[in-house]
Amino acid sequence: MAATILSVLVVVAILGGCAILTQLFARVMYRRCPECGVLNARRRWRCRQCGAPLVEE
Ligand SMILES: [Zn+2]
Repeated sequence: MAATILSVLVVVAILGGCAILTQLFARVMYRRCPECGVLNARRRWRCRQCGAPLVEE
């Protein structure tokens, strides 16, 4: 029983770590448009959806 709980904890920890890593990756690679909320690649300086300028945070 203890082994089952431990394995569940390990799976949850791995999933949580992946979610955090994915979020960090998205934050590094993308920038959210302040006007429409669309994710744009960081190299863009205008939103691909509405053309609003993307400012540095
Ligand atoms: Zn936009």
